[in-house]
Amino acid sequence: MMTTQEHVDQVMLQAGQAFDQYRNIDGKRRAAFLQAIADGIQADAEIIAKLAQEESNLPEARIKGEVGRTTGQLRAFAELISAGHWVQATIDTGDTSRKPLPKPDLRKMLVPVGPIVVFGASNFPLAFSTAGGDTASALAAGCSVIVKSHPAHPRTSAKVAEVIKTAMTETGMPPFVFQHVEDSSIEVGQQLVRHPLTKGVAFTGSRQGGMALVEAAARRPEPIPVFAEMSSVNPIVLLPESMRTNKELPKLLAASVLQGVGQFCTNPGLILALRGEGLDRLLDELAVEIRNSVPSKMLHRGIARIYSTLKMIALEQPGVSVLAAAAEADDEAFGAATVAIVSASDFISNAHLSEEVFGPFSLVVRCENVKELIEVVKALPGQLTGSFFGTADEIQAYDALARELQKRCGRMIFNGVPTGVEVCKAMHHGGPFPATTDARFTSVGADAIYRFARPFSFQNAPESWLPLELQNENPLQILRCVDNEWTFSEVMVVN
Ligand code: NAP
Repeated sequence: MMTTQEHVDQVMLQAGQAFDQYRNIDGKRRAAFLQAIADGIQADAEIIAKLAQEESNLPEARIKGEVGRTTGQLRAFAELISAGHWVQATIDTGDTSRKPLPKPDLRKMLVPVGPIVVFGASNFPLAFSTAGGDTASALAAGCSVIVKSHPAHPRTSAKVAEVIKTAMTETGMPPFVFQHVEDSSIEVGQQLVRHPLTKGVAFTGSRQGGMALVEAAARRPEPIPVFAEMSSVNPIVLLPESMRTNKELPKLLAASVLQGVGQFCTNPGLILALRGEGLDRLLDELAVEIRNSVPSKMLHRGIARIYSTLKMIALEQPGVSVLAAAAEADDEAFGAATVAIVSASDFISNAHLSEEVFGPFSLVVRCENVKELIEVVKALPGQLTGSFFGTADEIQAYDALARELQKRCGRMIFNGVPTGVEVCKAMHHGGPFPATTDARFTSVGADAIYRFARPFSFQNAPESWLPLELQNENPLQILRCVDNEWTFSEVMVVN
């Protein structure tokens, strides 16, 4: 019987060997592999959706949406790498006659970094798990992938892994380019991150879990990047005129707090507004929506327990009072919605109040004046999103406030709630710490691929040694930057 360390060593050795072959497979063949995974998921959609529903307690419509999002992401990455432009091919042609020194011929493009360990997320059993965005983007970049399945949905994860393995065989991919590690011990995850052949990590989950992996990666003799999406309270700023005129606001806010039992990284955990009649009226209506909401089962009992505990801790903080709460269910697996309220001064002096309470919880911060509102925003740590509800005139008048919010988040939403993340190229789903560990990268949309690639320059390389992307004739017909101009043209070499 193998020890877990021996098992991890074997998995990583296989991943390393697979990477050496896979990185040389062209974009079109890798695209066919991703398309085959999407086809396989689509073909088994009913079985997969049923498993995911059973294991996550998420409703049918949400899971069906996730199946579509998962196959959509795989196909989008397939199109991206099939077109090939994403490698950012850049050519500076040489000049042997340049004085006083000849100019070398330099050609640069992105290449895959190596085997990537992906941690499945509990709150997206499909779209952020086994064949989710992290796996799809790492495979698209040319990396081999090892998925550590999430123990909350082991059967869903195993079934999707089976589909990926079938697609691997059907499209002639190297064995072990994708591997699935089913083990519910933290130790296996740690060993995978520490293994010398691992070159990067993708994670969505708790701040504690994400930081444990960051620390493990930093302690390695060769540190590696951990792209962790961890915690965000996604503040919503409500400006006075907007509160007065936008009659839909209370329902919109309540729906966003309650969506998916609050189990979204973009759940609005914080609502910031100026004291006044507009706010009082809005809170009265919001309170009705929250009191009338019916508690639903959370992803698993552990998450429901953490929600209860963190909510209790938040409510025990000085100055915090309950604005409205749904009646608790008899079963501890259910999450009941709560909206609490606190003054700006109590909020600013207590860092605990800007921490994520994962579930249908939101804290209203009532500010006495604009200066205080700005101070509240300044006290916030990094966020995935910031929302700004205001009329056109207000958005201009409160520009300084909006700019402070912008500094602290990865996406700003005007007159909209943070839940509902569009998957497209212009989406940035990332933000300053602790929202993520690296605000420069997104985990949603086509640009997620850049987490798993590194720039590489070829200097004076013979044409025969250059990858197709950088050869003179531009055989892949990709957009390249040649001598500082973007072009599809071939390179004319003079000397
Ligand atoms: P988690 O506890 O962070 O676990 C996620 C994954 O990371 C699991 O596979 C877990 O392994 C692994 N892991 C955790 N700590 C580790 C460590 N010290 N070393 C190595 N691996 C480690 O997240 P969760 O189970 O999904 O949910 C727990 C809480 O996380 C939630 O209540 C919520 O607060 C937060 N969460 C936040 C988001 C978000 O998007 N902001 C999403 C999901 C969860 P094992 O399962 O094997 O222990």
